[in-house]
Amino acid sequence: MLGAATAAGACARGSQPAADLIVTHGAVWTGERGQPDATGVAIVADRIAAVGTADDIERWHGPNTRVVDAGGRRVVPGFNDAHVHFVDGGRQLDNVDLKDADSVQEFAQRIGNRAKSVRQGEWVLGGDWDDQRWTPAQLPDKALVDPLTPATPVFVNRYDGHMALANSIALRLAGVTAKTPDPPGGTIVRDPHGNPTGVLKDAAMNFVAKVIPPLTREQRTRAVKRALEHAASIGITSVQDMNPEYDDVAVYAELANRGELTTRIYAAPLETGWQDFAKIGVHRSFGSAWLRVGAVKGYADGSLGSTTAYFFQPYTDAPSTRGLLSDEMQSIDEMRSRLVGADKAGLQLCIHAIGDAGISYILDLFADVTRINGARDRRFRIEHAQHIAPKDFDRFASLGVIASVQPYHAIDDGRWAERRIGPERIKTTYAFRTLLDKGVRLALGTDWYVAPLNPMLTLHAATTRATLDGKNPNGWVPEQKITIGEAVAAYTSGSAYAEFQEAEKGTIARGKLADLVVLSDDVFSIPPARIKDVQVMTTIVGGRVVYQR
Ligand SMILES: [Zn+2]
Repeated sequence: MLGAATAAGACARGSQPAADLIVTHGAVWTGERGQPDATGVAIVADRIAAVGTADDIERWHGPNTRVVDAGGRRVVPGFNDAHVHFVDGGRQLDNVDLKDADSVQEFAQRIGNRAKSVRQGEWVLGGDWDDQRWTPAQLPDKALVDPLTPATPVFVNRYDGHMALANSIALRLAGVTAKTPDPPGGTIVRDPHGNPTGVLKDAAMNFVAKVIPPLTREQRTRAVKRALEHAASIGITSVQDMNPEYDDVAVYAELANRGELTTRIYAAPLETGWQDFAKIGVHRSFGSAWLRVGAVKGYADGSLGSTTAYFFQPYTDAPSTRGLLSDEMQSIDEMRSRLVGADKAGLQLCIHAIGDAGISYILDLFADVTRINGARDRRFRIEHAQHIAPKDFDRFASLGVIASVQPYHAIDDGRWAERRIGPERIKTTYAFRTLLDKGVRLALGTDWYVAPLNPMLTLHAATTRATLDGKNPNGWVPEQKITIGEAVAAYTSGSAYAEFQEAEKGTIARGKLADLVVLSDDVFSIPPARIKDVQVMTTIVGGRVVYQR
């Protein structure tokens, strides 16, 4: 009897198998060129079996088919965030939150409060403070937090991750004193007497970072689960995880084996470890539909907010510097030989580059890699690609480099970027329109934890360029806006292309993985200013409903 019931369930109409799940009454944006909007989707196991009209889909409706009634709402492919720091994001959900601390007093108070609640020996971490919110804008000083944290080490980062403030206990544990020299690629900020203020920039952060006790497996797993839950609730069905620790990947693998991932992960550990992958023959996009490896992530420079992004010309508001090349780039020849080696092994290269000179150097290196290893479909990526020299757009296109960009940074930095780099350079800053017009492929993401993971904020940013301070309601450098259709495509099929998965996901099409999202409002027809308030009603990953509002 059981066998007969199963057979009937699998067979709705003659030889037509029944769907496990159907989505009905949707306004389905498939992302497929030439495919008209559909109203329904039929899913068998983890794949899309049919996309079409109500009649087309009803034929798949069997007795055991689960129905998700979209109620006329917009259905889109699941969002694929091409650049996240997934474990840091998950931890951030539990960390001290300084992002909206609007004064140094508030900043110090929140750290003090957090210190009271952590267990003995634990650190106060996270933060994401933003000195540009304070009046006057000033770097914090450990003297502010020392009295409030007499027994707790504190190491709180600026929101861009390129500076952090350590309190005196943390500096002592790290052995940083007035006598400690600046490391290559980093700065110990000092007072007029030469004593460290607690602020460490870029490579100098390593002094403290390396004495923070590593996460236990249990803490790491908890962070991943928090991140997965958050991603599901906002329609993120795939993430591309930049420079995870190997232990993070081990947790993903464990969860993947247990069938507990609800977001697909492509992990790109640091390029300095490329041989670890090459030794066992792992190459780009190797793995399962849930977990892939085979990309490596590197750094060319720092960030605009920390004045460490590397430019051809000095900073407008800090004329003594034009930024810093990363420690990885301190010998460009060594960087080149690592990138050539990694590429030769079939690994994909994803390099963080923000300043125009940092980007230009990486394009040079990518050209070298191509010349040395020969032409093939390798999909180089520049992560962030924020400030592009006008001469370099064509090189982006001709080398086939993907611009992996985070529009939310544009509306955040847009508050102060012109002060920092002047009126000329901002014309090709976060230049999404120019990139598309030049034929460069975009992959969209957030850089979460650095920016919020919510894809609606990114779509809003890309289409409005309305800065967070409300001062540019019609857009900051408005000629660089892109349309909502372009933004959604870049966030779905564009990001899938960036991980060599465009045949598997990124559009709603027969045969592809059944990753889709029902939205509360139609992002394609509401005014762009309202996109940021759109909610996710349902998230489906691999045919499973992983979130329902
Ligand atoms: Zn990042």
